[in-house]
Amino acid sequence: MEVRNCRRCGKIYQYVGGKPICYDCKEEDEKDFQKVKDYLYEHPNASMTVVSEATEVSISTIRQYIRDERLMISESSPVGIDCESCGVSIKTGRYCKECSAKLATDLNRAFVRPETQERRLDGTSIQNTKMHYLNRRKDHNR
Ligand SMILES: [Zn+2]
Ligand SMILES: [Zn+2]
Repeated sequence: MEVRNCRRCGKIYQYVGGKPICYDCKEEDEKDFQKVKDYLYEHPNASMTVVSEATEVSISTIRQYIRDERLMISESSPVGIDCESCGVSIKTGRYCKECSAKLATDLNRAFVRPETQERRLDGTSIQNTKMHYLNRRKDHNR
């Protein structure tokens, strides 16, 4: 079992995966998110500052919701975040269309992987191999 410090309140808690925050903070976070979402739904033209003040959720938290692609911003809304690569204003994710297209190409180029060879050798897919391995580990611990 993994124990961590909550990144939001600093409390020690049992980490179960996902965001590195404790159960209480997760609930708070969900409430904040809902508040922002509802506010934006009712006030589609509100700016980031206005939304932040009205919901008492910090701008950086709202930005995080957008980056995580949890919060959908309408095209006409003044709310937005900057592309992490070129700084142009975007509505979701981390990069603008141009930059993500460019990054995808770079990524594909970087992925000339040895996996392909392995797969050809034993005829099974990598995923199956991994699954098999995990099952075996579980048995072993029992
Ligand atoms: Zn916490
Ligand atoms: Zn960009």
